[in-house]
Amino acid sequence: MTNIDRRAFIRGAAGIAALGVSAGFPALVLGAARRVVVVGGGVGGATAAKYLRKLDDTISVTLIERKPSYTSCFMSNEVLSGERTLQSLTFGYDGLRRHGIEVVQDTAVGIDPLQKIVQTAGGGKFQYDACVVSPGIGFKWEAIGGYTEEVAATTVPHAWNAGPQTELLRRQIEAMPEGGRVIISAPPNPFKCPPGPYERASQIAMYCKHHKPRAKIIILDPKDAFSKQGLYLEGWRKLYGYGTDNSMIEWISAAGGGKIEEIDPETLTVQAEIEEFQGDVVNIIPPQKAGAIAFAADLVEGDWCPVDKRTFESTRHKGIYVLGDASSAAKMPKSAYAANSQAKVCAAAIVNRFRGLEPGDPTFVNTCYSVVGEDFGISVAAVYGLNSHTNTIEPIPNSGGVSPANASAEIRKREVSYAHSWFKNVISDMLE
Ligand SMILES: Cc1cc2nc3c(=O)[nH]c(=O)nc-3n(C[C@H](O)[C@H](O)[C@H](O)COP(=O)(O)OP(=O)(O)OC[C@H]3O[C@@H](n4cnc5c(N)ncnc54)[C@H](O)[C@@H]3O)c2cc1C
Repeated sequence: MTNIDRRAFIRGAAGIAALGVSAGFPALVLGAARRVVVVGGGVGGATAAKYLRKLDDTISVTLIERKPSYTSCFMSNEVLSGERTLQSLTFGYDGLRRHGIEVVQDTAVGIDPLQKIVQTAGGGKFQYDACVVSPGIGFKWEAIGGYTEEVAATTVPHAWNAGPQTELLRRQIEAMPEGGRVIISAPPNPFKCPPGPYERASQIAMYCKHHKPRAKIIILDPKDAFSKQGLYLEGWRKLYGYGTDNSMIEWISAAGGGKIEEIDPETLTVQAEIEEFQGDVVNIIPPQKAGAIAFAADLVEGDWCPVDKRTFESTRHKGIYVLGDASSAAKMPKSAYAANSQAKVCAAAIVNRFRGLEPGDPTFVNTCYSVVGEDFGISVAAVYGLNSHTNTIEPIPNSGGVSPANASAEIRKREVSYAHSWFKNVISDMLE
């Protein structure tokens, strides 16, 4: 080939590449870099970005994340007991840059599925061959009378996105008088981290046991059951006197009138279905839905984003993949481990698509640890497979379970160390 011929070929190839997959030429033949734009640098987005590059380093990956660093929600309940600082949960994106990922600090405000462009608040336009969206959750602010974003930021934190509200809640608990009362309002299903509100109550109790032993923590719940309930109750009985008159923790289920309707942030009074509760500290975890960009990009049906469970490609718009909390991935929970697992399946499916191959049959994994008190950890684990007839993700029978009931002190202690090593591993897997 002469130089001119070669230049003309390269120009032509670039032109065809710009048309995307529809040209029908495998990227390898043309040497064209496929472009993936990832929205959201949390667990799902960061893991997908990293694994795309690990699977095929000819793919150009741009990650759009609104914050300069990631603060993990997982383990953030330990900030409330004073076991950790928020700083210990905060990580930068240099590890991803070292994988050759372009990290852009901006907020995605729209996605054009026909032109295949992501638009940002900063005026950026990012062309993609595939787009991965993992924006996490948003809140249904209209659901509880008197509860607004401003109230949450100043007096009644939800602290359900780790950050300043987590520290505000910690300060409020520290400032609470001895014998004070903490009210936690748990959200209805589905929501981010099903065992989280109960771990939160446990972590606050762990602090109060030493510093305010007459304190009470009341969980108001719009549900009649919760994740790992048997194990939590066992831990609460052993550690916090649950079931006695002096119990530090009280759980009020839906049947007991636990669903809340309204809050008066001035008096910290919560109106539940049957009774009114007044707290010294109130923590409302509101009902949830997919993050805002999922709505702006027309990816939702109801509150969450429907996806093809084999690939996590949106069933509403081809070429856009939705991961993690924002997706409808029943029966997987909305957890970090689930998002991490889905991201790897999705990255492999995108690479296969670029190579003209069919996606494989996925399996997924989730383990969720909770630290109920000092040296008292519990967990739930499952391996999931795809039921392609129903397009649902289902636990593989006998693949998991919960930690044993009435386990030895040794096992409970070991589960705390497993929880902490799981945290280090998942952060390393997504960001390093
Ligand atoms: C108290 C608590 C404890 C938890 N404990 C555990 C645990 O022990 N184990 C576990 O597995 N899970 C746990 N979780 C759940 C876990 O944090 C989430 O399930 C997980 O983070 C979901 O990952 P994601 O990628 O969907 O969303 P996230 O990790 O929330 O990431 C979303 C990212 O997208 C960014 N973003 C959103 N919109 C835009 C936009 N328009 N443009 C650019 N960026 C955007 C956000 O800034 C954020 O960085 C816990 C959660 C809480 C609240």
